[in-house]
Amino acid sequence: MSLYDVVIVGGGIHGVGVAQAASAAGYSVLLLEKSQLAAGSSSRSSKLIHGGLRYLESAQISLVYECLHERQRLLKLAPDLVRLEAFHIPVYRDTVRRPWQLRAGLSLYAMLGGLHKSSLFKQLPLSQCSELDGLKAEGLQSVYRYYDGMSDDAALTRAVMDSAISLGAELELRASLLHAHVEEDRVDIVYQQAGSEKSCQAKTLVNAAGPWVGEVLDHITPRQDNIAVDMVQGSHLVLDTELKAGSYYMEAPVDGRAVFFLPWKDKAMLGTTEVKYHGRPEDVMVLAEERRYLLHVLEHYFPSLSNSAIIEEFAGLRILPQSEGAHFSRPRDTRIVQSDKRLSSIYGGKLTTYRLTAEKLVFQLQNILGKKQRIAYTDKLRLTPT
Ligand SMILES: Cc1cc2nc3c(=O)[nH]c(=O)nc-3n(C[C@H](O)[C@H](O)[C@H](O)COP(=O)(O)OP(=O)(O)OC[C@H]3O[C@@H](n4cnc5c(N)ncnc54)[C@H](O)[C@@H]3O)c2cc1C
Repeated sequence: MSLYDVVIVGGGIHGVGVAQAASAAGYSVLLLEKSQLAAGSSSRSSKLIHGGLRYLESAQISLVYECLHERQRLLKLAPDLVRLEAFHIPVYRDTVRRPWQLRAGLSLYAMLGGLHKSSLFKQLPLSQCSELDGLKAEGLQSVYRYYDGMSDDAALTRAVMDSAISLGAELELRASLLHAHVEEDRVDIVYQQAGSEKSCQAKTLVNAAGPWVGEVLDHITPRQDNIAVDMVQGSHLVLDTELKAGSYYMEAPVDGRAVFFLPWKDKAMLGTTEVKYHGRPEDVMVLAEERRYLLHVLEHYFPSLSNSAIIEEFAGLRILPQSEGAHFSRPRDTRIVQSDKRLSSIYGGKLTTYRLTAEKLVFQLQNILGKKQRIAYTDKLRLTPT
């Protein structure tokens, strides 16, 4: 039976990131994905490779710093997959975040981004605002323009897996973990593929199953502790219209949340929402109340586009630490939990910081796997679309 240094469950951005980082560090790797790459949250995000300007409001400074530096790195490593996009923040008489607050936030964002050209912002002259895709002019006081990254999340996931494969990692698709038993010196793994049961062994097992993280833990013996998390769904609508001037960062009139309006494959994408979710991850779908909420934001800021047809919609799940606070302001840090020296699970996290998360996890695995002859560095590996 094959024995791998690392077996990973889940082919989302975190699973493929770990596959790449572990292979680069010289370890033998197998990734099991029950469906196809990026079948879960990694194809249902807002597609932003960003510092997370809004996280400054909840004082997640180190997260923003980390994200901005990873954004810079991904712009270099994956120029065909990650691009800089102009974002516009309109301020009206009744906007809650006042111009001085936005200037302060954007200045801090620029500083955390090392005052790099891509981190700078400016206030647009109001005369230029007629060029902003039909943005409502009535009551408009100012518009700020800054830059952030955007990517095709699923394509980025596939590119990272391709990179891992080029370093020797193996990938099994439509391979669902059925059971894993953690022994003192290894993990025995059984998975199902094309109707038959297969098995392998690993020195370490990484649970990168995203919203299924708890379900995967339920299939592992001896029983493992699961940390308390909430699943929070976020939905997007793809509209049959085109945005020529860039992206928009709008304050939802009903609750002040940030909602993005973004160019997406020659159409426009509107999102996202935050609604607590209690069902099975595979059943998540856009709710009528989310559709109404997003279309209300569109009608408020872009009345001339409010009749655009919805040509696609999708919902994804965030994993957030359990608490009573508003979902919007909860910490977005990634948690790596090592419930056994041979078993690590990834909770939450961001597309933007997948590489850092993967490197941190692989660094921890060194304690059990020992150091091997490194074959590459992930911060130097170019990523190309397939
Ligand atoms: C609405 C929304 C918007 C977001 N926007 C952004 C953004 O703009 N920028 C950003 O940086 N981050 C964003 N994020 C966060 C980011 O998308 C997620 O953190 C990231 O995609 C999670 O990836 P993952 O690999 O952990 O999980 P997933 O992508 O969900 O992957 C888990 C995989 O595990 C597989 N799996 C499950 N069970 C098994 C099993 N038994 N056997 C084998 N395989 C299994 C699933 O099929 C799935 O492919 C957003 C998240 C959401 C929900």
